[in-house]
Amino acid sequence: MEAKLASKKGNDDKSIIQVGNATCGGKDLMIIGGPCTVESEAQMEAVADHLKHGPVQALRGGVYKPRTSPYAFQGMGIEGLKILSEIRQRHEIPVVTEVMSIEQIDAVAANADMLQIGSRNMQNFELLKALGKVQTPILLKRGLCATIEEFLMAAEYILACGNANVIMCERGIRSFDTHTRNVLDLGAVVALKQLTHLPVIVDPSHAAGKRELVADLARAAIACGADGLIIESHPEPEKSVSDARQALSLNDMVELVISLRPIAEAVGRRIIRNDRRQFSIVNSSNKHVKVSFEKHISRFRASSTAGR
Ligand code: PEP
Ligand code: MN
Repeated sequence: MEAKLASKKGNDDKSIIQVGNATCGGKDLMIIGGPCTVESEAQMEAVADHLKHGPVQALRGGVYKPRTSPYAFQGMGIEGLKILSEIRQRHEIPVVTEVMSIEQIDAVAANADMLQIGSRNMQNFELLKALGKVQTPILLKRGLCATIEEFLMAAEYILACGNANVIMCERGIRSFDTHTRNVLDLGAVVALKQLTHLPVIVDPSHAAGKRELVADLARAAIACGADGLIIESHPEPEKSVSDARQALSLNDMVELVISLRPIAEAVGRRIIRNDRRQFSIVNSSNKHVKVSFEKHISRFRASSTAGR
């Protein structure tokens, strides 16, 4: 194998990728929640409102959708991107969305914190090369039938072209069984963690295809060393325009993440609330500065006590 850049050089060789105000690959897990598809501003507002108070570090929502049928809804495009951009600013939470072509890269990179490359594009080599020319983090999903080596080499393309910010995502592979949508390959997660310094996260939603399987798969993924999760969740799951059968309700999403805490701790990891991370305040020279949530709260307490 000649994944020169993606290969791990030793046990401590780990890349920590910064995604907006969150990180992936260090002690802190990155949990990403949100709908398969951005459907309206009200939908994304409800998602952000509900999930950012739970321990979710980033939001997802597709605006360019790879659909099996050309007659299915293809996503809101630029209009959806504007919604994501507003949500990201208003709620101070990073957003992740898919790019399907080279032409979409600049607009999406200007409005989102991480670019998702879907399974169907994992070996779109021209797209991978173009992604190597930006510095925005890339969430690279495993191809439907890609071997671990092919998956690693796809990441290598992005690294070799100059972008070191790659997060790999196991999302299930195709097999003969039809009960689940795909087969979640946790063996690949363990193997990848040994082979590469890049963070590896898991998408139990597209693997399972059924919401009642998602929580247990998510817990298993964290137990076996995944650096995070990306999970489809929707204010009204059964009304989702795409992937309705696998979407969790927002309450179930929050409950799931809470149940991950002791598992994370058992494997030496941690889940930090997004609002505990950083806070934007206006300082005495009228400039916006970022401070930690705890610092903000203690300053706020100190000044309100002083004023009494
Ligand atoms: C998605 O994340 O909604 C998606 C289409 O995923 P995948 O590319 O893994 O099928
Ligand atoms: Mn989906």
